[in-house]
Amino acid sequence: MDGAPRPASGASQGASNPAGAEERLAGAGTAGQPALRMAGIAKSYPMGGKKLEVLTGVDLEVGRGTLLAILGASGSGKSTLLHIAGGLDRPDAGRVWVGGQELTALGAEAMARFRAARLGFVFQFHHLLPEFTALENVMMPGRLARQGEARVRERAAEVLWLVGLGERLEHRPSQLSGGEQQRVAVARAIVNRPELLLADEPSGNLDRDNAARLHELLVRLAAEQGQTVVVATHNDRLASLASGVLVLDGGKVRPAVTEEMENR
Ligand code: ADP
Ligand code: MG
Repeated sequence: MDGAPRPASGASQGASNPAGAEERLAGAGTAGQPALRMAGIAKSYPMGGKKLEVLTGVDLEVGRGTLLAILGASGSGKSTLLHIAGGLDRPDAGRVWVGGQELTALGAEAMARFRAARLGFVFQFHHLLPEFTALENVMMPGRLARQGEARVRERAAEVLWLVGLGERLEHRPSQLSGGEQQRVAVARAIVNRPELLLADEPSGNLDRDNAARLHELLVRLAAEQGQTVVVATHNDRLASLASGVLVLDGGKVRPAVTEEMENR
């Protein structure tokens, strides 16, 4: 667990960088800041006149270029936490920073712009557009950002090669395996070089071998591209490959203990 992301408070940096990760990242002006910081996050849902307390005080920091795995039983609040980390949902209390930017200080429009420009999401289901090819799906974020068409195409192809799908550019989602679809979803999520990639049980629908490939990809993105990744998972193997592992339990995060992480 040395240098791993961990529950944090105050100013301590929760994770160290692999050598050179900082240099590979474009995000100038925010160097030295953790990629993600959450402080005092609370979230509840109204349920039949009562409050369902899902998060009751989450503090964490994730260093740049590291991969944090978040474990936790179904219903423990992993998705809620990732949604709040990515500005898809707001906490009842607490603050979130991505790089130097406080997400919780942004209004709805600025938040949406920030999400599109600086965050990447991968979900359990790929959400690819069925009528478009792999290449066109991965070009979408660049097109939405109104980058030049030639540059968008070139970058999308580059990232598809990076995820091992350079020979599948013209395939539609229905012509790809489940594992390949998820790798296209990862390519789409990272094509604009997001500061933070959030993945919510991305291998949940995959068989063992495809899950393993996807996990290796996420680990490689952190190690080789300096991509910060936070992934909610049930998968022990992915947790064993992560820079750090936190368990969401009783509305808070804690470091994984040995019996949860036998393979580490
Ligand atoms: P996990 O991803 O760990 O399975 P979730 O974050 O999806 O957990 O959900 C945590 C708890 O909050 C669950 O008990 C779930 O039923 C509840 N919950 C999630 N979203 C809502 C919502 N929009 N309204 C009410 N309850 C919700
Ligand atoms: Mg979930």
